[in-house]
Amino acid sequence: MEENEHTRYNEYIEDMRQREYPMLKETTYLDHAGTTLYAKSLIEQFSTDMISNLYGNPHSASTSSQLSSRRIENVRLRLLGLFNADPEDFDVVFVANATAGIKLVMEALRDQGDGFWYGYHRDSHTSLVGVRETARKQHCFSSDAEVEQWLAESSPRPSSSCMPGLFAYPAQSNMNGRRLPLDWCRRIRLAENNGGRPLYTLLDAAALVSTSPLDLSNCDAAPDFAVLSLYKVFGFPDLGALIVRKESGDVFDKRRYFGGGTVDMVVCVREQWHAKKSETLHEQLEDGTLPIHNIMALDSAMTIHQKLFGSLEAVSRHSTYLAKKLYDGLSSLRHGNDSSVCEVYKASASVYGDWRTQGPIVSFNIRNSHGGWVSNAEVEKLSAVRNIQLRTGGLCNPGGIAESLGLAPWEMKQNFSAGQRCGNDNDIMGSKPTGMIRVSLGAMSTIRDVNSLVQFLREFYVQMESPISTLFPRVTSLQLKPPTRNPFHVESLTIFPIKSCAGWKVPQGKAWEVRREGLAWDREWCLVHQSTGVALSQKRYPKMALIRPSLDLDEGVLRIRLAESLQSRTAAAELTVPLSADPTLFSDEAVFKQKAVRVCGDSITSRTYKSPEISRLFSEALGVACHLVRFPAVGKGADLTPSSRHSKAHLQQHQIPARMQIPGSFPEAQSFPLEPTVERPILLSNESPILTISRSSLNRLNELIKAEGGKAAQAEVFRANIVIAEDLASTPGTEQPYAEDYWRFLQIGTQYFQMLGSCRRCQMVCVDQHTAEKNEEPFVTLSKTRRFDGKVFFGQHTCHLAIGDASSPLAQNPTISVGDPVCPYEDGDAANDLILQSLVNT
Ligand SMILES: *Cc1c(COP(=O)(O)O)cnc(C)c1O
Repeated sequence: MEENEHTRYNEYIEDMRQREYPMLKETTYLDHAGTTLYAKSLIEQFSTDMISNLYGNPHSASTSSQLSSRRIENVRLRLLGLFNADPEDFDVVFVANATAGIKLVMEALRDQGDGFWYGYHRDSHTSLVGVRETARKQHCFSSDAEVEQWLAESSPRPSSSCMPGLFAYPAQSNMNGRRLPLDWCRRIRLAENNGGRPLYTLLDAAALVSTSPLDLSNCDAAPDFAVLSLYKVFGFPDLGALIVRKESGDVFDKRRYFGGGTVDMVVCVREQWHAKKSETLHEQLEDGTLPIHNIMALDSAMTIHQKLFGSLEAVSRHSTYLAKKLYDGLSSLRHGNDSSVCEVYKASASVYGDWRTQGPIVSFNIRNSHGGWVSNAEVEKLSAVRNIQLRTGGLCNPGGIAESLGLAPWEMKQNFSAGQRCGNDNDIMGSKPTGMIRVSLGAMSTIRDVNSLVQFLREFYVQMESPISTLFPRVTSLQLKPPTRNPFHVESLTIFPIKSCAGWKVPQGKAWEVRREGLAWDREWCLVHQSTGVALSQKRYPKMALIRPSLDLDEGVLRIRLAESLQSRTAAAELTVPLSADPTLFSDEAVFKQKAVRVCGDSITSRTYKSPEISRLFSEALGVACHLVRFPAVGKGADLTPSSRHSKAHLQQHQIPARMQIPGSFPEAQSFPLEPTVERPILLSNESPILTISRSSLNRLNELIKAEGGKAAQAEVFRANIVIAEDLASTPGTEQPYAEDYWRFLQIGTQYFQMLGSCRRCQMVCVDQHTAEKNEEPFVTLSKTRRFDGKVFFGQHTCHLAIGDASSPLAQNPTISVGDPVCPYEDGDAANDLILQSLVNT
């Protein structure tokens, strides 16, 4: 394609995105491998078809039923035509997805009398790999060269030749988009090196055809079976297809299972006999009712796709061009010390820009300027804030991932034992990445998507100077000064009775009880999904910020009010729940039901409110079926149940000052006296009993945000229990932002607290707590100024320490109040030892 042809195509798609998919105006969509974006005109075409025709269930003689049958047969023909497949030679079997097509082929081979030999390529999708579990013998080909060598051998392949065989491979890797030789199918058919037994080929074309034509016009060179995911081509409908070369169709004769619609006669009870349908393959293989409406939608999809894009060739040219631009852009990113930012996982034989060897997918990981890996979980958080949609992780391609990332089987098993699971945040283990970032371009992608990704990476991941000098400006001098005792005070105290809902401010002058597990009444309740039992959070449901609980200790109730904007969604606008958890207060013991719910991956026992009014209010407000649950009340002194949770907070590397080595001194003579390995009980909070932030740090952050023209962050977004402020009236101009990084203990009023470590942040801080709208800030600026080891921190985990005489009223009923003076003790402060020595032994 000529350069100006691409420019025209880009303009055309941009224009279409504005018209057909307004959501895409603000979005950088880089995940086409999962699905192509469907256009509004496709849905309209389909809806017109549906409301202007009466389609019955096929298998009957009524006109509506006959109409459906005819339409379905036409769509079959049309789909074959898309791949130049002659209906004399090929048949289409409609299935739910590509995986279901693979399973049909697997069933047929599994049911051969002697079983089957299975060979598959290392770059196979998980769904192809799984077939091996049903094979008598199997072999994973570790490279193209091994396949070539096998094909060149005149003697039989690495199987025993007494059973039929199946060789399966992807036409395009779903991991890095490399394209594999289509010619293998023809050569395997010619080789006849299976001792006279048939050797079939299964081509997984799911990734390839999403952006590329597939030509089956030469039946002799075609795979015996090809599987497709049609939603990857058209976005809609959710449908897959298995294309079978009719000459190889008799392999299905041995398939033992039969489903409704695939048989002419079945005899049950005293005799067991059935006759399979014999006219066409698809009749034999389409078990149960066909997805009629999906098949009809496919007709609309083919029409609209052709109208919008012309052909799969045009899509291929455009996306190939964009992928080359992206590859060049990522490869050109360099840190200040000239080391490269992106490690791109391109196959050595692939060339971006050449559609024969490379599809429009780029997979990579990011390195910092020291060569260390950047966590993909963190990249995902930032890209979510910037509205960039991409995919990270293991990408359902176990062999390709292991090869590209250099992970040996033992390492993968070790990582599994150490907690790595598909989809979790453990993405760097043993200093190697366990997954990658994948960008897939498609028919609806434009050069704008490519440029905005490169720009995003440049903005956040290119380091022009050494990070040590910019991020740790004060560390080395810290130990040389005596600890400073600036006057601080408690600016506000906030309770979050329901996890992830709005906070409630403790009134001025009210002494508030602190417990081992946090401030009284903090996070004693949460909302859980009715079917999964997982605790809801604002990250997923930002509207939770508009649910505003308050504590009425005089009335003894938790009062839940909804922000005005939520009230139109619900029947009631307010609700009260008794604070007392005493079951006798409820008319019926069954008001509470013991149930395990999941909070931050922990399974905890809680009690569910069964009142339909309670569940209804929250469910209506959030648009998700949920229950209110309560954590078993833990009164002061009462012991926690065995299922109780503990704080996972710990000091972060950036908080431990690098000590100056004084010649002659004992190295490491003094380190932080108490590593907070002591487990701190918590209720439903994420990591620690109490979260503390500093007003000065927030002010510093907001200065930086405003300097860039951004919207200042409210203190509320950090969901802190304690906000500490400096008494600036007495010492103007001496604010100490982020001094709290180096605090180890705090005295608040008469009480002592230990600092457990910095609080790691995610994009949830971008949810405006008054409107529930998502902003870019403060996460973008935090990521630029408060990122250590690839993680973003703001605020400090804190816990209460019981100190002094256990029988004194102060120890028995510890309280703090708004306005209390606060005295911090930094690392190395002589008082720290005294604090530790006087800990009450509980
Ligand atoms: C997506 C994909 C699959 C799985 O397709 P489903 O439709 O989800 O079953 C298999 N192989 C490849 C190469 C794919 O890209």
